[in-house]
Amino acid sequence: MTLQLVLFDIDGTLLDGHGIGRAATRRAMLELFGTAGNLDTHSFAGKTDWGTLCEILGASEETIGRHMPAYEASIERHMRDLAAEFELFPLPGALETVQALHERPDFITGIVTGNTSVTTPIKLEGAGFDPAWFPVRACGNEAAHRNNLPPIALERACAHSGQAIAQQDVTVVGDTPADVACAQALGARAVAVTTGFSSREALQAARPDHLLDNIAGLLPLCGVNSLV
Ligand SMILES: [Mg+2]
Repeated sequence: MTLQLVLFDIDGTLLDGHGIGRAATRRAMLELFGTAGNLDTHSFAGKTDWGTLCEILGASEETIGRHMPAYEASIERHMRDLAAEFELFPLPGALETVQALHERPDFITGIVTGNTSVTTPIKLEGAGFDPAWFPVRACGNEAAHRNNLPPIALERACAHSGQAIAQQDVTVVGDTPADVACAQALGARAVAVTTGFSSREALQAARPDHLLDNIAGLLPLCGVNSLV
C-alpha cells in the first residue's frame, strides 16, 4: 500500500484563531525579552515563530534558538490562559476533511506550522480538532524558515509508519505563498486555500498545483470522494 502524507498549515487553513497567537506572543515576548517591538503590525503569514522572533527582535537565528525552550514554556502558559478569552473556529470544511483523510489507512495526516509544538495542540483543540488526528508534526520552534519544516515532517512520517514515503506522495496545504514555496522546496504537491491571509492573486503567483476556495476540495484531489 502506497502511503500518502498530507501536511496541513494551521492558521488560515484549518482554523481562525481570532488573534490568540498575537496576544500570546505579546505576553511571552514581554515576559522574556521585555519588549514586543512592532508585533502589532508584524505579519505572521507563512513565517515560523522562530523567524518571527528573529525579525522583531533583530536577533540571530542562533540567539533565538538558545531562548526557544524558555519561549515555548512562556507562550504555552500564556496561550492556555488566553484560550478562555478567544473563540477559535474551524474553517468551513476543515474538520470533515481532516477526519475523512485521518480515517483512511493509506493516508497520514500531519501538521506543518509556524506555531510552536506546545501551542499547536492548544489551537487545534480550541477549534475542535483532536490533536491525535495529526500524529506527525513539524513546528515553528524547530526552524527559523518554513522551507525546513516539511523535510522534518516527512522524516517523522516515515518513522511513524515504518515505510518509505516519496516526496511526490506528500501534499502540503496552506494559505500563503510561503506554504506553497515550502511544498515546492520538498518536491511535494502544493495545495493553496483562499480562506486565510493571502489574496487569490498572491497565491496564484506562487504557482500552487491547486488553488481551492474550500479545503473540502482537497478530498477529490486525494481520490477520497465522500465526507464523513
Ligand atoms: Mg497559515
